[in-house]
Amino acid sequence: MTAKTGAQLIARTLRDLGVTVIFGIVGIPVVEIAEEAINLGIRFVAFRNEQACSYAASVYGYMTGRPGVCLVVGGPGVLHALAGIGNSTANNFPLLVLAGSAETNAVTKGAFQEMDAISLLTPHTKLAVRTSSLDFIPGAVKNAYRTCWYGRPGPTFVDLPADIIQGKLSPEASLPPPENLLVSSPPRASGDPTLILKATQLLKNARAPLLVIGKGAAYARAESGIRKLVDQTQIPFLPTPMGKGVVPDSHPLNASSARSAALKHADVVLILGARLNWILHFGEPPKWSPNAKIIQVDISAEEIGRNAANPDLGILGDLALVVDQLTTSLSNWTYLPSGQYTSLLADSEKKNEDKAQKSALRQTPPNTPLTYQRAFHIIKLTLNSLTPPEDGDIVYVSEGANTMDISRSIFPLYHPRQRLDAGTYATMGVGMGYIAAAHEAFNAIPGPGTSPKTKKIVAFEGDSAFGFSAMEIETLARYRIPALIFVVNNSGVYHGDSTSEDAWKTLQDQTVSNDTKSDDALEKEKRGLRSTSLLYETRYEMLATMCGGKGYFVRNEEELERATREGFLSDIVTIVNVIVEPGIGQEIGFAWQNQPQVKAAHEGDGKAKL
Ligand code: ADP
Repeated sequence: MTAKTGAQLIARTLRDLGVTVIFGIVGIPVVEIAEEAINLGIRFVAFRNEQACSYAASVYGYMTGRPGVCLVVGGPGVLHALAGIGNSTANNFPLLVLAGSAETNAVTKGAFQEMDAISLLTPHTKLAVRTSSLDFIPGAVKNAYRTCWYGRPGPTFVDLPADIIQGKLSPEASLPPPENLLVSSPPRASGDPTLILKATQLLKNARAPLLVIGKGAAYARAESGIRKLVDQTQIPFLPTPMGKGVVPDSHPLNASSARSAALKHADVVLILGARLNWILHFGEPPKWSPNAKIIQVDISAEEIGRNAANPDLGILGDLALVVDQLTTSLSNWTYLPSGQYTSLLADSEKKNEDKAQKSALRQTPPNTPLTYQRAFHIIKLTLNSLTPPEDGDIVYVSEGANTMDISRSIFPLYHPRQRLDAGTYATMGVGMGYIAAAHEAFNAIPGPGTSPKTKKIVAFEGDSAFGFSAMEIETLARYRIPALIFVVNNSGVYHGDSTSEDAWKTLQDQTVSNDTKSDDALEKEKRGLRSTSLLYETRYEMLATMCGGKGYFVRNEEELERATREGFLSDIVTIVNVIVEPGIGQEIGFAWQNQPQVKAAHEGDGKAKL
């Protein structure tokens, strides 16, 4: 096609850059770009809210190792997509956002969806650029595409004024040949040999060494090198939540079940693609030993020496190369387990695994809600009976405080990039977008003659997290994405509210006279619902049936087993709404926080302690 309009030129530029899918929401004037892109064979996944499509595009970049592309309208569309831009920055995912904007000659006049997106986004992106003329489009889009991808990945932004999108190219205008738009994979740097040697010496002399494997290692596709390093050196390793699967969880050196003990006692820690942020407790005591020598490997120089890391030990470079350098440098050496460290890890592993096993095996008494542990155990057994976990046929998505935290250790990963969660920003609401992105990354129509086995996407959604983007169920139904979504429903944020059922009934039922209510009920009614309350036992599964999918409302073990089995085999989107224990009176918080927890005041004297 010869491009005649700005929209055609933008679409052609994207195609020539190798873009095969765009996540977005159209409106005037970007609808023309989307339509032209579809005409060129690019898939367009149309969402219901820009937050979801920007999240989807960001994680698509992580899964595929190439930038995810998001197209939105100006003004409010950009504001909503800011959520995905922040998510991309926080997680270091490569993301290119394109947005429409007001006509260049209408700026300041109160034009349609007018907003100065460049001023807004400049501090939040690696590059924010406005295409001020038609001939600038290919260069601007190419540079934004390259910049979000090269170096440390992150978001970039291209502002496309309506008159540029709708502008006509002069008949004699010459377009850049497609090969001029090729952007090859990012250049890779290996580590400074002196520092490789220093790291080698430290590891060889360590009494209690540890490898920490982060999602940077998964993004770098360094799995085969890291597996070799672990096997050769026999150093125990600890994956971060999204670093799981770089080395299979089943590996005997996986110290996940002894996480706290490993962090506390390790004396030399090699960090492969993870930051010393809150997820790793900043590398600081009391979670870490104050004497630990921390060696980082990272693609970003700014990351070296952050928090408790020693800047003199940090290795700047691409993991895919640095890991091989380290393996070569350590080639004649294997860690001989020191009695104390090894037995500490083994004891802690046994204690934690026994505890987990006990909660998983505890059968649910009649008329009692399932516990999270029991529910996940039943789901796991059922899924394992349908597909061997080591085959890696499932991509897991998970969000919500308890749901994400508890499910993480129950479902082992054997392959990298197959577990997506709320990530570095602890962003709630990513789930539906991540499902669509995972479907695109793993199941998108392949080239002629190939028929790869598709992956089933299984999501564990806390009821609160699910609510952030629940309407995207319609998106999943429309694109025939047969995800199996468990809404793990405790009727609340963190925890349900014991007053929920009572309060909802009494608040809603005007016919109940005050004389017949208990003092407790009256007090609760006066106080209203707690901030963490959600409607008691909402029927979320109906969102699936409303758009032709399957819905299951599940209260007991048999129902959960059946719904899991049928949902896994279903070829349409399925929601299994599992009622679980509300956790009344338990602490609000999670294992990652160091600070004292806030006690939920759902019970007792009614005085709010939250
Ligand atoms: P996690 O959440 O798993 O702890 P983070 O997102 O905090 O991981 O950290 C990932 C780190 O990996 C980032 O600091 C990023 O710069 C780094 N990184 C990304 N790609 C590469 C690569 N190819 N080589 C080395 N480091 C990388």
